[in-house]
Amino acid sequence: MEKKLKRIILARYYGFCMGVKRAIKIVQETGRNENEPVNVINEIVHNDAVVKKLADEGIGFVSRVADAPGGTIIVSAHGAPPTIFAEAEKNGLHIVDATCPLVIRIHKTIHKLIDQGYQIIHFGDRDHDETIGVVGQGPADRVHVVRTMEDLRRLNIRGERFALTSQTTADVKDFEQISDEARKIFPGIEIFNTICNATSQRQAAIMDIAKNVDLMLVVGSASSANSNRLRNISEAICDRAFLINGADSLDDEWLDGVETIGLTAGASTPDFLVEEIIEHLLRFSGGSAGVERLKSSEGDKEYPEE
Ligand code: SF4
Repeated sequence: MEKKLKRIILARYYGFCMGVKRAIKIVQETGRNENEPVNVINEIVHNDAVVKKLADEGIGFVSRVADAPGGTIIVSAHGAPPTIFAEAEKNGLHIVDATCPLVIRIHKTIHKLIDQGYQIIHFGDRDHDETIGVVGQGPADRVHVVRTMEDLRRLNIRGERFALTSQTTADVKDFEQISDEARKIFPGIEIFNTICNATSQRQAAIMDIAKNVDLMLVVGSASSANSNRLRNISEAICDRAFLINGADSLDDEWLDGVETIGLTAGASTPDFLVEEIIEHLLRFSGGSAGVERLKSSEGDKEYPEE
């Protein structure tokens, strides 16, 4: 094994976004203030370490409303369809909504478009919690999910007005391509770029560094859509990119002959996991590597003006 590591470059934007920080704070405060059980429906955010930490603090996680034993149920940052809220209410649960305001903005857009008679095409991962929540905002025959160009071309929908929306964590370039194709298939279609700022900032930050490194490491859980996207974008630019949960899943064989590593993390990844990886890499280099932190002092610009 050739140890040549000299530089570790940390992306300008990485890790927790405002929506995730907000959701975690809501869960922790609710857990502290309630005497009855507090459960989150699905994962509060898609990160194993975050879920484990909250579970250690006494928060429960259920995959169905029916499994909540009473008390409070919290809707995750990804949001949920109205049917979930209705079921929780019917079961007498206290509901706390931690949906990210930028996801709620998509829900509001869908409501408005449905009222105005649009057929909506939503670009997203069909089984993702956020998509399920978005699709549930309208009748099934009015909101159509597409994941690929083929899905879009195969769509067989009729109507007079069409609109395109996107999952908040979609690949910015993929959405541009889908938008271009949608304009050809549905002339006059209205495009709503609902990718959130945190996503576009983290994707743009990769473009800045990935071309100058031998290897990109993306810290995030396999269940995190935005982390997977960051890995795919990284790989397309620098050829070698791995998605890792934390320092434990870092394989030193990957570092053979590597001089420069680019490092980033998904919007649901806590900073301590990134710092553990930096420590591991510094140890591996025997002290010869330096860390360049490009993190922006501006922070994330996340929320729409209300
Ligand atoms: S990734 Fe974007 S939409 Fe999702 S929680 Fe973070 S800020 Fe909100």
